[in-house]
Amino acid sequence: MRAATLLLSLSLTAGSLVAQDVTAIRAGRFIDVERGEVRTNQVIIIRGEKVESVQAAGAPIPRGAIVIDLSAFTVSPGLIDCHTHIADPIESNSAADPLTISAAQSAFWGVRNARATLLAGFTTTRDVGVYRGFTDIALRNAINDGTVIGPRMKVAGAYITVSSGGGEVTGLAADVVVPADFRRGVANSIAEVRQRVREILNAGADFIKIIATGAVLTPGTKPGAPEYTEEEIRAAVQEAANYGTFVAAHAHGAEGIKRAARAGVRSIEHGSLADDEALQIMKEHGTWLVADIWDGDYIDSVGTRDHWSEEILRKNRETTETQRTAFRKAVAMGVNLAYGTDSGVYPHGLNARQLPYMMKYGMTPMQAIQSATINAARMMYWDGEVGSLAPGKYADLIAVKGDALADLGRFGDVPFVMKGGQVVKLEGKSVR
Ligand SMILES: [Zn+2]
Repeated sequence: MRAATLLLSLSLTAGSLVAQDVTAIRAGRFIDVERGEVRTNQVIIIRGEKVESVQAAGAPIPRGAIVIDLSAFTVSPGLIDCHTHIADPIESNSAADPLTISAAQSAFWGVRNARATLLAGFTTTRDVGVYRGFTDIALRNAINDGTVIGPRMKVAGAYITVSSGGGEVTGLAADVVVPADFRRGVANSIAEVRQRVREILNAGADFIKIIATGAVLTPGTKPGAPEYTEEEIRAAVQEAANYGTFVAAHAHGAEGIKRAARAGVRSIEHGSLADDEALQIMKEHGTWLVADIWDGDYIDSVGTRDHWSEEILRKNRETTETQRTAFRKAVAMGVNLAYGTDSGVYPHGLNARQLPYMMKYGMTPMQAIQSATINAARMMYWDGEVGSLAPGKYADLIAVKGDALADLGRFGDVPFVMKGGQVVKLEGKSVR
């Protein structure tokens, strides 16, 4: 109660908090994701936007530091979702929906989504694609320059997809022409893949998203069907490597997963129909699996209630339990696993709902948190700056009531969020 009261009083002076240079946070419990342990009674010293030290309580606190008492809480590094669609405002089942929203409306909804994601405790995301090309680049830049509040983002720019494939706006009448903005990444040959990768990275994307198989939510496409050859995917990997970056591959079907893993992609998104051989190839190549093992339940319940198309509901049913089975095997095999939820399929801000599912399908609570912090950061080559609370890294952290690892559901209600040393949420209130 005492800490809760202090939190409340701090909220009255949050404006002054932001301006202070040195902050000391008393953590009742502290999740050390690098060592995989929870320590009690720690003090985190933050100078500017970076962590300076993490020490046992009793260590000297710099004079003049603002002290935030989170001794009734578990302090965790800010969470990372490696599969979001924050900049794509659609939460829907209708293929035509992206065409019913103007670019301006899209940008405003992106602002709303970014805010909801950050206030839910997700201080970093990898945004894996938008239908209207490059809206994600604009949103990332607006967050970085302080125009809007949101998580740190790495963005994909546009989907590399075959024409009529999983990354296209499909399901329209044959004589409807989809605007060029929605087709920035359409590529049907090795040469076109290389061209599109260059165009997307030169436009400012951080990495490449390739659609290697059909998709659940894209009408007409078949999740089990591979849409690119291994050589075409390899061309994307090689071209991305020329820019010092990586490729994330959307892949449901086993053959598509195998091609993408052999071609050297950094991560497989979904992995829903992975067989043992596919998981083995991923393990051999060090490929990361980013499996959205919660949202199948969301699609099934809301989609049924709201009369989504039978095709989508059927494809969702055909990929939900298979994905969970593959995920459980991947955990047992020691495949690299990073947390990703496919936000946008469900309302942004519910990203933590998947954490208990990570446990249900084979992870320990600590492994689940590591997948959403340090391992997520490693997957996207950002572990030098985010993913754990260590000296020199950004002070991105959250507080969860009580003993958080005893009930991962508590991560769904985060009373305190700090990003880069600035308090952005206190007791449910946004302070920015
Ligand atoms: Zn997705």
